Amino acid sequence: MKLNPYFKEEVNRELGEHKILMCYQCGKCSSFCPLFNLEPEKFNPRRIIEMVNIGAEDVLKLDDIWRCTTCYECAENCPQKINFVELIVYLRTKATEKGFAPKLPLQELESVRKEGFSVPLSPRAKKWIENYMVEVKTRG
Ligand code: SF4
Ligand code: SF4
Repeated sequence: MKLNPYFKEEVNRELGEHKILMCYQCGKCSSFCPLFNLEPEKFNPRRIIEMVNIGAEDVLKLDDIWRCTTCYECAENCPQKINFVELIVYLRTKATEKGFAPKLPLQELESVRKEGFSVPLSPRAKKWIENYMVEVKTRG
């Protein structure tokens, strides 16, 4: 694993107040995390923070950073008042800037922006929706 000390400095500088470096790896965030409790081998917030604090920039390439539901259970129970959600939003932003974001969510967003639906609709489905909307409008 390649380490980049500037990466951890950058993250900690950007997040300011609740500096990730204050983490002492107690694991409370993970124990309160519903995803960790469901699939501990797939998602572990304590491990993500550890990666950031050793400068493992490859954390940006992990699917893990896209699994968090931003429910705040971890942040509310951290003895060091570390805001993990803020960290995950920052990591997602950086990953997207660097082209590491998974393609599917971005395609879905683009589709919502263009067509109003998360999946591209077939011409037949579009026609059906148009007709349905006309029917609803005429019904009043
Ligand atoms: S609960 Fe806070 S201090 Fe403990 S491992 Fe998680 S982020 Fe670090
Ligand atoms: S915000 Fe993310 S990491 Fe924290 S408890 Fe919720 S799902 Fe887990």
